[in-house]
Amino acid sequence: MSEFRRSLPRASFDLAIVGGGVHGLFAALEAARRGWKVVLVERDDFGSGLSFNHQRTVHGGLRALQSGGIARTRQQVAERRAWAVMVPHLVRPLPFLLPTGGGVMRSRAVIGTALRLYEWLGAGKNQGLPPALQLPPARLVSRLEALARFPGLDDTGVTGAAVWYDYQLRHPDRFNWVLASAAIRAGASLLNYVEAIEPLRVGSRLAGLRVRDALSGIEGELHASRVLLCAGAGSASLFERWQLGAFPPLVRACNVLLNRPAHDTALAARGRSGRMLTATPWDGLWLVGTFQTDEPAAPAAAVPSRADVEAMLDDANSAFPSLKATLDDVRLVHAGLTPATWRRGRAELLPESSVRVHGGGLYSIVGVKFTTARLTALDALDRIGLGPQRHAPGTGRAPQPLPHGTADGAAERLAEACRSVGVSLDPDVHAHLLDWYGTEAADVVRFSAAAARLQRLSAGLPLLEGELIYAVEQARACRLADVVLRRTHLGTTGDPGHGALDRAADILATHLSWSAERRDEEVRLTRLRWAV
Ligand SMILES: Cc1cc2nc3c(=O)[nH]c(=O)nc-3n(C[C@H](O)[C@H](O)[C@H](O)COP(=O)(O)OP(=O)(O)OC[C@H]3O[C@@H](n4cnc5c(N)ncnc54)[C@H](O)[C@@H]3O)c2cc1C
Repeated sequence: MSEFRRSLPRASFDLAIVGGGVHGLFAALEAARRGWKVVLVERDDFGSGLSFNHQRTVHGGLRALQSGGIARTRQQVAERRAWAVMVPHLVRPLPFLLPTGGGVMRSRAVIGTALRLYEWLGAGKNQGLPPALQLPPARLVSRLEALARFPGLDDTGVTGAAVWYDYQLRHPDRFNWVLASAAIRAGASLLNYVEAIEPLRVGSRLAGLRVRDALSGIEGELHASRVLLCAGAGSASLFERWQLGAFPPLVRACNVLLNRPAHDTALAARGRSGRMLTATPWDGLWLVGTFQTDEPAAPAAAVPSRADVEAMLDDANSAFPSLKATLDDVRLVHAGLTPATWRRGRAELLPESSVRVHGGGLYSIVGVKFTTARLTALDALDRIGLGPQRHAPGTGRAPQPLPHGTADGAAERLAEACRSVGVSLDPDVHAHLLDWYGTEAADVVRFSAAAARLQRLSAGLPLLEGELIYAVEQARACRLADVVLRRTHLGTTGDPGHGALDRAADILATHLSWSAERRDEEVRLTRLRWAV
């Protein structure tokens, strides 16, 4: 923030990006890698919008194939592989199971043919990947194997199942920060808690953005010759205010995270609503979705009411009868407004992201999938005319590993850090640090030791107190929710209990000199994120 007030208003950028979700962050990273001066403003925290709320599946295009999109399927298979190259530490192969039987389109003959075509189109899906990330072929399994793979499956009319593999993003919130920090390392200026208010113009020429520091209320100007909107649902009001034409209708899409131990296969089934739902194991619990409204939703309806959540659970229980989920089982609801289109009299999620050119230096991304966000960002830069510069060769479209996206050598570096600060970590703390931070775990331990914060935050949790301060000092967290929901693992699956939130608030309040009122307000706002 202080950086913003001091130096940025005097700088001049080739590109200003509005929105720090996955699309904006990829655009910032790729523009900086191509050698352009880029600034990104995010009115909340990085990755706090839809990019916090998704179902964590890196799709390989099977859905696209269903609607006959051969080219799109090929593209998504290739892009799914890109994730295993960029962040091998943060993805894992996950089997999905779709029961066969109950109509021609769900017969073994039809689904078997589709799977063979899918395998043929995806022949290069594992090229150059380590064995642990190689995806087994999609195939049909017998009724017996389907029931063994998914105990509790409603077997009425089931003749067997299709099984295919996609990647799951294990820690999406860690990923968002890894992506943001890669953009910063590449030279991009990233500002959270800075809102874009309106375009600056000199005559008819775009000159940048008028912005407001969302924490202090201070307004300022950012000078840039081009602006790319990646503001997710926020783009709808910017389109209206900045007179950029019609934005697609928005529907509310949700997942519910249930306090139920999950086994390690995802199951797809149709709910009472007629929509296909998936029960996905995530962090040991069932994440069920994606539920969506049939009608466009107003911004005020972005967060579902208790009645809405009850209706979702009803739909989930009809699709997955063994769940028998009630409101008491809900740990967290992921919800957000997402662009849609009209099909057969009801709203359907837009199948593909797009880039729009508004003229006068203004561009926008209408993003609908985090899976393809990198490609969409590259397309946007090409449309804007920000290709690779001569002094930034080798920045083609091929995916590159992101810093700290790997765990290669992480255990050795962590052991060395522990030796150098003279600490021996408990096994659960050691495992947690490697799992969340990968190669950055060693830096976190050194930092925590220097800050005399190597103790656990709470007896029942593997998190170190130093991680909270590290999030503020090294990862641009400004608020309690940033630390608890996005920079650490503490609250990503709901309230961690053990008095951990209050303890975390006390530590941050001391470190950041918050008043008692500010501390309590930070706790209230964080709890709100877990409320149903
Ligand atoms: C329930 C659900 C499940 C999903 N599951 C999957 C899945 O499994 N796989 C998949 O690939 N995709 C999935 N998606 C889609 C995916 O989550 C989104 O397409 C993607 O995260 C959108 O990223 P974004 O950057 O466009 O938007 P966002 O992440 O919403 O980012 C936009 C950002 O812009 C900021 N902003 C808005 N206005 C302003 C302003 N004036 N100034 C500054 N900043 C501003 C917002 O604060 C926000 O952080 C799912 C979506 C939902 C809702």
